[in-house]
Amino acid sequence: MLYDDFYVKSLIRTVEDWPKAGISFRDITPIFSDPKGMRMVVDAYVHRYIASDITHIACIDARGFLIAAVLAYELQKPLILIRKKGKLPGKTISQSYDLEYGSAELEIQENAVKEGDHVLLFDDLIATGGTLFAAIELLTSQGAEIKEVAAIIDLPDLGGSQKLRDNEIPIFSLCAFAGE
Ligand code: AMP
Repeated sequence: MLYDDFYVKSLIRTVEDWPKAGISFRDITPIFSDPKGMRMVVDAYVHRYIASDITHIACIDARGFLIAAVLAYELQKPLILIRKKGKLPGKTISQSYDLEYGSAELEIQENAVKEGDHVLLFDDLIATGGTLFAAIELLTSQGAEIKEVAAIIDLPDLGGSQKLRDNEIPIFSLCAFAGE
């Protein structure tokens, strides 16, 4: 199925003032409830990464899991879960990061990746980049290399994608909402 930019973007619903005043929440649930859209999105990443030398796909709790799991299945790569604090059993490594108000913590299981691993890191959306930088720290502190960050949506006005590029981390997003 041919990828259709306009069609995929039409499946992203903007919910104003949610979860709080001033936020334009980009809701991707219509992609999941539209089999054609879901296939277009997954296929776009399959085509991009089918011949790449990534060894692992890592994804961020929770919306990042949904596409990344299908992608890992399609590309036959191991899937690494980066979860919110307290969700992963056994020994974990944590990394805290700043949110608009306060802070949060992400965790990965010890030895989930190792030196020499080439990781594609997936999340649904890039805003300030704080979440992704915390995930990158968890992966690189265990010796892995980030080959690329992939997302469905980039919000360039919030600066995260530029910060990633400034740190020489390649990024790939299917669409962007700028100045909206
Ligand atoms: P950030 O750490 O600021 O880059 O925020 C990225 C994370 O927060 C992603 O995991 C998104 O799911 C979520 N997020 C941040 N802003 C939005 C938004 N406007 N709409 C939907 N999700 C968002």
